[in-house]
Amino acid sequence: MMYDVVVAGAGAAGLTAAIFAAEKGASVCILERTDKPGKKILMSGGTRCNVLPVRMSLDDYYTDSSTNLLKRIFRSWSVDACKSWFDSDLKLSLACEIESNKWFPVSNSAKDVRDAVLNKALSLGVVIRYNQSIIGLQQLESEGSGWDIMVDGAREPVKTQNVIIATGGLSVPTTGTDGGGHKLLKSLGVALKPTYPALTPLTGSHPGAENLAGISLTVSLSQEKQNAKREGFLFTHKAFSGPSVLDISHLATRFVTGLGPKPEYHVNWTGEPEDVWKQRLLDGKGTVKSVLKEHLPNRLADALLIGKPYSDHKIAELSKSNRQELLKLVTEFRLDWSSHEGYKKAEVTGGGVPLEAINTATMELKNMPGLFVCGEIVDVFGRIGGFNFYWAWVSGRLAGKSVNT
Ligand SMILES: Cc1cc2nc3c(=O)[nH]c(=O)nc-3n(C[C@H](O)[C@H](O)[C@H](O)COP(=O)(O)OP(=O)(O)OC[C@H]3O[C@@H](n4cnc5c(N)ncnc54)[C@H](O)[C@@H]3O)c2cc1C
Repeated sequence: MMYDVVVAGAGAAGLTAAIFAAEKGASVCILERTDKPGKKILMSGGTRCNVLPVRMSLDDYYTDSSTNLLKRIFRSWSVDACKSWFDSDLKLSLACEIESNKWFPVSNSAKDVRDAVLNKALSLGVVIRYNQSIIGLQQLESEGSGWDIMVDGAREPVKTQNVIIATGGLSVPTTGTDGGGHKLLKSLGVALKPTYPALTPLTGSHPGAENLAGISLTVSLSQEKQNAKREGFLFTHKAFSGPSVLDISHLATRFVTGLGPKPEYHVNWTGEPEDVWKQRLLDGKGTVKSVLKEHLPNRLADALLIGKPYSDHKIAELSKSNRQELLKLVTEFRLDWSSHEGYKKAEVTGGGVPLEAINTATMELKNMPGLFVCGEIVDVFGRIGGFNFYWAWVSGRLAGKSVNT
């Protein structure tokens, strides 16, 4: 059977694209290389799935392409309109976590999110074929007359008028995403931005070369001493994770990939303003160690004070230079990172299809009629907080709505 639209990949973006194409009246088939739809939705948000942010701005996103182009795509569907789609069309109630600016399903079940999107697609007659790995793509001779899709192991190509590439990035390859879609586009001559892991833990040494794995706290972590907001930080066996680390890990991965300068990360271990600590180090009662332990986890305080001869001195008796050193240790600690945990642990992929290569009103690739892209394969990712799914829903909808029928 020939379909009007073939979607490559049954992730968040591909399922959304299929829904909106089918709502236009198109016959739609999704070819998915694994045996399950929405694997990443199922594992997202600690299996709670942070579906959307409550608010967004362009500052929540990172791209090497033009941010004006990104703005145009986001203008096509506001966060509020997308949230209403979940409520009204998908019948999935969302609950807001005000303090973190995030929407989760009321049930706190990522499976409910996956099922809501999947069932909507199926109810519209979308056909999903599993274990179908797309390995080739060819535009038919006369321009505008469609595409041949080569599937691994199949004798005949699948023919269609529109192809939507929603094959994701390279993050967590065990879920089916190994950059296969990137290869398909490269073979058609699309110039891609270099890819790199993003939202991935960093490796390195814990303070004092101690093993602090398991300690979690709220810090502010900044690059080059800029101000940062307070967020979670976690010591892992390999070094550092938590939202504060993941959100700026791409600067490290870009450096390691040769795409940017080496970032220097500074941690304020309590996230309080420097003045608060200045006063505390002047007025504090007890020893240096006891004051630090009042405000920091014991093991971290001990590790920070390794090799400091004044750690058991009364805080009121500290010399000016020791007080200065201590202030830096607590509010401006230089994180000793060496590398990162790569795509294996990355929540998303940076780089990919440049926005300049796309018609931002439709998500169609320029000069390639009938070929659309959406989701993580595009050179856009957001920080932790539902921003990446928002991108998948917005770009998927725009691609699906724009197919030629
Ligand atoms: C652990 C984890 C937690 C996350 N939590 C959140 C969260 O709470 N909130 C948030 O906003 N974001 C979260 N993310 C990010 C979010 O999951 C992604 O941004 C989103 O899933 C990207 O959707 P996508 O449809 O573009 O790609 P994917 O979901 O990766 O889907 C791509 C699909 O294409 C298929 N495919 C690949 N190649 C081929 C091929 N050649 N032929 C056929 N099919 C192919 C794959 O098998 C896959 O099913 C998380 C990510 C991870 C890894």
